[in-house]
Amino acid sequence: MTPKLFNPGPVDVSPETFAAMSHTMIGHRGKDFEDLYASLQPGLKEIFGTSRPVFLSTSSAWGVMEAALRNLTSKKVLSLCCGAFSDKWVDVARKCGYEAEAIQVEWGEAIDPEVVRAKLAEGGFDTVTFIHSETSTGVLNDLEAISKVVKSFPDTMLIVDTVSSLSTVDIEMDANGIDVCLAGVQKALALPPGLALFAVSEAAMERAKTIPNRGYYFDFFEFAKNDAANNTPTTPCISLLFGLQFMLGEIAKEGFAARKARHAKTNAMIHAWGAKHNFKLFAPEGLRSFALTCFATPDGFDLSGFIKTLKNEHNLLINGGYGKIKGTTFRISNMGNETEASMQELIDAMDSVLAKM
Ligand SMILES: *Cc1c(COP(=O)(O)O)cnc(C)c1O
Repeated sequence: MTPKLFNPGPVDVSPETFAAMSHTMIGHRGKDFEDLYASLQPGLKEIFGTSRPVFLSTSSAWGVMEAALRNLTSKKVLSLCCGAFSDKWVDVARKCGYEAEAIQVEWGEAIDPEVVRAKLAEGGFDTVTFIHSETSTGVLNDLEAISKVVKSFPDTMLIVDTVSSLSTVDIEMDANGIDVCLAGVQKALALPPGLALFAVSEAAMERAKTIPNRGYYFDFFEFAKNDAANNTPTTPCISLLFGLQFMLGEIAKEGFAARKARHAKTNAMIHAWGAKHNFKLFAPEGLRSFALTCFATPDGFDLSGFIKTLKNEHNLLINGGYGKIKGTTFRISNMGNETEASMQELIDAMDSVLAKM
């Protein structure tokens, strides 16, 4: 059996989720599908914190990260960069042919809202890309403060990636004035990869109207037009939608507040475990994700031996760092279905590996 994943995405998928996904196939142009689509909306709106429809994109998150630019940008993109995913977004903007600038902070630091204010004040930007929970470093940026700054510049569209924060903390898309809010399902929603979720503000739809050559597959108007009929522009990953329906049912049963509290609790367990072993947190106090933890690897610590033994002897997989901090950091996810009991099993296993090192 392959190891249980405590890697920050994709994360472990429950047998119950797989069972829900094995629903008999249905056609996507018919009542059964429309009912399925409609059934997802209330739960998705709750976790996004929006009254806008939540669109379903058969793609990974990057599809929508690129699409948001293609639908909204006519001037310059400002990318807020603090780790592997946010740094890559500025490259993606340039690959799409946009003029793009980055506010770059050291990995492990958070974006400073006042720096964003000063940069936007220079003028010329019409789109900002922002990652709420930077999964490579474990930093949870201050969504409310950044949103407030960006929204103080009229006609500047705020695109927010909530891939590893959605359903673990409040997003409040509408209250924060987010124009495009997006996530993939293989992180905190604990589904297999292949589906991205996104919602678009009315202002962003107005902006998109003015943008030529939005293409077809990711055109926001195609999504909106089909949404009005509880449908998607193209044939979606129907099995994953059954999985999502199951997962939203689980969230409703648990309650969103309890789900957030569970993530805070299980995340704190990993922080406490790290403190016991003198592993330093990579993200600053008060700006740490509740979905995963990133530790700095202590000098002389045999990280690859630790990860390998944990996998070989306990069949549990944690992550040895991502991008340029591979090896110098390691990451542990508590996203999705993990409980105090399952995190305790991981902690006990890690303790027993460390005791023998
Ligand atoms: C995993 C991740 C992505 C990439 O998602 P894909 O599904 O691979 O496209 C983007 N942003 C963040 C913050 C992530 O954690």
